Amino acid sequence: MTIRLLPSTTVNRIAAGEVVERPASAIKELVENSIDAGARRIEVELRDGGRTYLSVSDDGHGMTPEELDLAVERHATSKLPEDDLENIVTLGFRGEALPSIASVSRFTMTSRTPDADNAWQIDINGGAKSPPAPASHPPGTAVEVRDIFFATPARLKFLKTPRTESGHVQDTIKRLAMAHPEIAFRLTDDGRQVINLPACPPLVDDESAARLERLGGIMNNDFAANALEIDAERKGIRLTGHAGLPTLNRGNAALQFLFVNGRPVRDKLLFGAVRGAYRDFLAHDRHPLLALFLELPPETVDVNVHPAKTEVRFRDPDLVRGLIVGALKHALADAGHRASTTVATAALGALRHHQGGPAYAPPSSRPAYGLVESGRNFQAPLTHFDAQPSAAPGAETAVLERDGVTETSSPADDYPLGVARAQVHETYVVAQTGDGIVIVDQHAAHERLVYESMKTAMAAGGVKRQGLLIPEVVELDEPAADRIAAHLDELAELGLIVEPFGQGAVVVRETPALLGEIDVPGLIRDLADDLAEFDAALGLKGRLEDVCSTMACHGSVRAGRRLNGEEMNSLLRQMEATPHSGQCNHGRPTYVELKLADIEKLFGRR
Ligand code: ADP
Ligand code: MG
Repeated sequence: MTIRLLPSTTVNRIAAGEVVERPASAIKELVENSIDAGARRIEVELRDGGRTYLSVSDDGHGMTPEELDLAVERHATSKLPEDDLENIVTLGFRGEALPSIASVSRFTMTSRTPDADNAWQIDINGGAKSPPAPASHPPGTAVEVRDIFFATPARLKFLKTPRTESGHVQDTIKRLAMAHPEIAFRLTDDGRQVINLPACPPLVDDESAARLERLGGIMNNDFAANALEIDAERKGIRLTGHAGLPTLNRGNAALQFLFVNGRPVRDKLLFGAVRGAYRDFLAHDRHPLLALFLELPPETVDVNVHPAKTEVRFRDPDLVRGLIVGALKHALADAGHRASTTVATAALGALRHHQGGPAYAPPSSRPAYGLVESGRNFQAPLTHFDAQPSAAPGAETAVLERDGVTETSSPADDYPLGVARAQVHETYVVAQTGDGIVIVDQHAAHERLVYESMKTAMAAGGVKRQGLLIPEVVELDEPAADRIAAHLDELAELGLIVEPFGQGAVVVRETPALLGEIDVPGLIRDLADDLAEFDAALGLKGRLEDVCSTMACHGSVRAGRRLNGEEMNSLLRQMEATPHSGQCNHGRPTYVELKLADIEKLFGRR
């Protein structure tokens, strides 16, 4: 057996195996170098998805010919002046990227410092280096990489189509660009410009606006319009950034970004914290959009975990997780009943789609109140405030107010969700706002309100109850009655005072006040069913969401129940006052707001 030191080209190719997985990883390293060099403009060019050619040029501080010569040597770096791995403030520090890339490709680097008369260039062909030679180039640095992996054919075989590789490159550039709004980025792919982000210099005292502008340019404008600002601090760790409203969600987590001290990282901790913070507002398979920036003292985070530096280790992960979850929940609560503007856009899109023609199509013989056509409840689909009292007799039908009375006493403009004007199909409340209309799904909204007030009441130590005038005996089958009997304490905490009542029956004495008048037997039977399905270990509280939705189903605002004006307006006011009431537990909206301007467009008036 002969032991020997490997030649440096082999060593570099081994390192390249980790650092340079594909064109996008080479570009990541090169763009990071440009950022570290203080560039204000970075241009990337690709051919064939990077397989035959890629280049990164910047206007950073450049290198002298001596520096150029040294930069491509293994473990050569200008970024660890004190050899202090505990205190890394640059994106690079390993001194590995350039020699690794150069060992597997035909590599050219041209660089010029601001005060030099000319640039210098160095060529490396599969690891073999030429001495620096004078060249012509403006101040800054340009790296060109041809035939990446020609020296490691095994890796070459793993490259995907140019399109896929270009997609990875775009993703890489976008991530880095998010963290650096002050730098302009451009990507040209086979001659086509695919990314062009102008620099967004920070306005006086408002870094967040510049960042949001950059994020909007990358994610899309819906994000900028529907993002909540995050700014929180705990024990020297600062979290800033923007998080989307729950109703702006998508089927995967691809638009969730975390940056640690300006470095894009993919971190399980982030995804877990985000899931936790949004759990109450989104179905399991829906994901919010967000970009969060953590800043913490360099010595409290280890970035030297992974050769590609995409993973980090926090000294106190619980602190970081707590900060993220807390800040997100806080921002979501502050957003109140707000639902994203995309809801209205989607609704209008759907309306236009249904019309199937130009928005200004002449009116047909259909009645203007098209909802009547569904066939259901043709006779009295509309409970309108203007209707004559005789049209709606009976105590539980709409209390009607004369037109004008509502308006003078409570102008629509004063309330974000407006003043209730009508109920349609016993399911939707239509309200008028200062500049549009709001359509509320009364059942979804009420379910959300019940859930939110239950949570708050339970956290505050108890749910308010109201006694039934006459206790209600509910007949069940025996196992169902036993299940209820086994959870009396838990039910009491939820505001339901129930006692066993002989075999196969229970008696209900008090109910949660927030439910109003309820269908007691229906609720008890459904809860007994829920108990049969729930995981016994979780109990009722562990399934509060489901319990509340069961409760809301038997409350007074459920779908199919006619509401009077007071009830409708009270629902709207409660929504305004309740955080998270703009969406149901699955991230669907509880109301849609249409602006007059948009409605006018629908009718071709604009
Ligand atoms: P690292 O970034 O970890 O230091 P690299 O191999 O990526 O290692 O780069 C080696 C050195 O080359 C850097 O430390 C830096 O001094 C210099 N360098 C690389 N790219 C540039 C650039 N675009 N502009 C100026 N200097 C650069
Ligand atoms: Mg580097």
